[in-house]
Amino acid sequence: VEKPKIDIQIIQPSVQILTPEAWLLEYPRLLEIIGRTCYKSENHITDQSAEKFVQMLIRNGHESVLEHLAVTVRFVGDRSMSHQLVRHRIAAYSQESQRYVNYSQKGFQVIRPLSIEMGTPNFQRWLSLVEEACARYSGLIEAGIKPEDARSVLPNATKTEVVTTYNLRQWRHVFKERALNPRAQWQIRGLMRMALDKLFTAIPTVFEDLYTIMVGPLTKPKIW
Ligand SMILES: Cc1cc2nc3c(=O)[nH]c(=O)nc-3n(C[C@H](O)[C@H](O)[C@H](O)COP(=O)(O)OP(=O)(O)OC[C@H]3O[C@@H](n4cnc5c(N)ncnc54)[C@H](O)[C@@H]3O)c2cc1C
Repeated sequence: VEKPKIDIQIIQPSVQILTPEAWLLEYPRLLEIIGRTCYKSENHITDQSAEKFVQMLIRNGHESVLEHLAVTVRFVGDRSMSHQLVRHRIAAYSQESQRYVNYSQKGFQVIRPLSIEMGTPNFQRWLSLVEEACARYSGLIEAGIKPEDARSVLPNATKTEVVTTYNLRQWRHVFKERALNPRAQWQIRGLMRMALDKLFTAIPTVFEDLYTIMVGPLTKPKIW
């Protein structure tokens, strides 16, 4: 039987912050206004006071104040990564739908597992199985089967996009589980490390302690 020819694009996992940067810049000041309501100490607010105040909240474990503000991020990864991501429940997710997207028309995009190096015999093995699955998907579509049923033969390597919104407390929680935990799987760990890097740059006050651990010698990633 002649092997079906199919065009497959291998793409990189990625992270994009969707919340406007100008909003994020305001977050420390807003957190201070919210948090000082508890102590009725608004008279202590100055142009420079927000950073110290927010650090004090985090140090004292008063993280419920962080729940008032959220950040939205677009993650691009494979379907096995997204299964792990959506286990985090204090969240809003909007994910690319395999019911509504027809990959025979849109084209197939997949993520290469990190341990399978390009150009090696194992890469060829992996690619040929992925190609075969995608070709069979196209065959089912041609036979009149809907994308929502044809998708059952798509590989886990299929690219997906998940727009994810967590409040700041939940971001800190997820970073501890998925970015700083060496046992987290390589793809979600790499994506969360990228997200932590970007969120630290945008709102250093809220993520500084976690970022410091991430770049410290003890948690240097073994992979990715
Ligand atoms: C290294 C690793 C390996 C894993 N392996 C597996 C596996 O093999 N199989 C598997 O099924 N899962 C696995 N998971 C997923 C894991 O069990 C959790 O479902 C996932 O990490 C979600 O995190 P979370 O439970 O902290 O809660 P989140 O949903 O992120 O919620 C945040 C926090 O809110 C609180 N919270 C949320 N919901 C409730 C609730 N209903 N009741 C009380 N408190 C609540 C908890 O304090 C929780 O920590 C793994 C996760 C990691 C990091």
